[in-house]
Order: sequence, then C-alpha cells, then structure tokens
Amino acid sequence: MTKHCYKELPEGYEKIFEVDAKKTKTAVLMNVFALVLTIIMAAILILIVFKNNFHIVIGTDLLIIMLVLLVSLVLYMVLHELTHGILYKIMTKEKLKFGLTFSCAYCGVPNLYVDKKTALLALLAPFTVFSIVFLVPLIVFATTGNDLMSLFFILMFSIHFGGCIGDLYDTYLLLFKFKGEIYVKDDGAKQEFFQKNK
Ligand SMILES: [Zn+2]
Repeated sequence: MTKHCYKELPEGYEKIFEVDAKKTKTAVLMNVFALVLTIIMAAILILIVFKNNFHIVIGTDLLIIMLVLLVSLVLYMVLHELTHGILYKIMTKEKLKFGLTFSCAYCGVPNLYVDKKTALLALLAPFTVFSIVFLVPLIVFATTGNDLMSLFFILMFSIHFGGCIGDLYDTYLLLFKFKGEIYVKDDGAKQEFFQKNK
C-alpha cells in the first residue's frame, strides 16, 4: 500500500457512480461506440494518408498483413492490460487482477480505493503509449509511400483508439464530470467512483 490508496473507503466518501462492463447494456454500448470510433478514425486516417490514390492490390501480401494484424491485436490486448497493470503496481504496490469478460479484457486492483491521480495515470497509460507506438511507424510508412504497411498501422491505431473507449470514458468522468476529491475502486471490469460528502 502507498499513500495513493486505501483498503477501506476513507471517511466521508460516498459512491456516486459506477461503470460495469459485466452488465450487458454497458458492454453492448461500449462495443458499439468502440466500433463507431474505430471506423471514423480509420476513415479519417485513410483519407489523410492515401488522399485520392488508395491503390492496394488484393493478394497474398494483403492476406499476410491481415493475418499479422490478427496476431498483433491479440498481443496488443495483452500489452494494453499489462500497461494498466504496471501503473497500478507502481502507484499502489498491491496485487493486480487480470481477466476477460465476453466483451473485453481488463486489469484492476480489487478491494482497493485509489486516488484520482492513480486512476488517471493507470487509465491513460495504454492510450498514450500505444498511440505513439502505432502513430510513429504510420507517419514513417506514409511519408515513404509504403501503402500496405501504412494500412496496417492505420488499422492498428484505429482499433486501439476505439478499444480505449472505456478508459477514455472513465477519464472524461474523472476530469470533467466529478469535481473535487474522488476515489476509484477498479476491479477491472467494474469501476466505482466515490466522492467526498459536501
Ligand atoms: Zn484499457
């Protein structure tokens, strides 16, 4: 335990909100928004990178790239959750919980109330790290005219961007919706938010 977290909810705090990806409605909404966000991002990037001359040959090269994409996405999912985990570990020194629901992979620190700073760092770490990891090669391949590799990184970045919807939604809540001191209990699939009583 560190000064950034408590085993018991600090006195004077009450639960104000929860986001539970194990609830069907939340899971469906999250996935629909993730898909829409992915498609919009991919469309924007394809327009920027390829302008009017998108000429990818449908053949073995494209098939190989798509297979690499599938493997990369599985690896990405694991690394994304590990990145949440690294930040949670540094900030809390507590035991982590990793898991998979029918609709998403997750990482959390169960039965622990973490402060706003810890929650924000853990939430935003994968978004920040993997945006750089995918955008830098995209820029390199786009400027050198490698269309196939550009497409690969456009798809990786767009799926990553859409897939971060849950993290970005929680971040929005913490930064703009809930004012003052907040503690978050994150068991991975479910985040509960606690605010100090007025
Ligand atoms: Zn995440």
